[in-house]
Amino acid sequence: MASIFSKIINGEIPCYKIAENEDYFAFLDINPVQKGHTLVVPKIEKDYIFDYDPEYYAGLWKFAQKIAAAQKKALPCKRIGIAVIGLEVPHAHIHLVPLTNEGDLDFDASKKKTLPAEEMVEIAEKIKKEL
Ligand code: AMP
Repeated sequence: MASIFSKIINGEIPCYKIAENEDYFAFLDINPVQKGHTLVVPKIEKDYIFDYDPEYYAGLWKFAQKIAAAQKKALPCKRIGIAVIGLEVPHAHIHLVPLTNEGDLDFDASKKKTLPAEEMVEIAEKIKKEL
């Protein structure tokens, strides 16, 4: 069965999309640990990020680099932190999280936010403008 991220990529489930190319897709995390928290997802579905073909894997990080540059310009932060977890959704993805302090990259469930839809749209638009 297709993962929830494949369903997002195929347009079957809505998302706050940031960018897409032939191979990769980026959208806002629905429960961000910080505002602007973005997921970068390979269109080929594999559970574990290190199982991809090396070239395709390298392309994922190249795509993520562009998204992170746009996030950094668009949002108030010192830098963009990276995490690869994958314990919840078995479709590999990179978390890109705007950071100001070390503790900002904390995935404890109690730290996750639910923002109003209008704010998610506004954040996505800000990031997209910087791409
Ligand atoms: P993990 O698999 O542990 O890296 O975490 C999966 C991440 O995907 C979590 O941060 C969730 O908030 C996020 N997530 C799950 N479902 C959706 C969705 N439908 N849209 C956006 N983000 C999602």
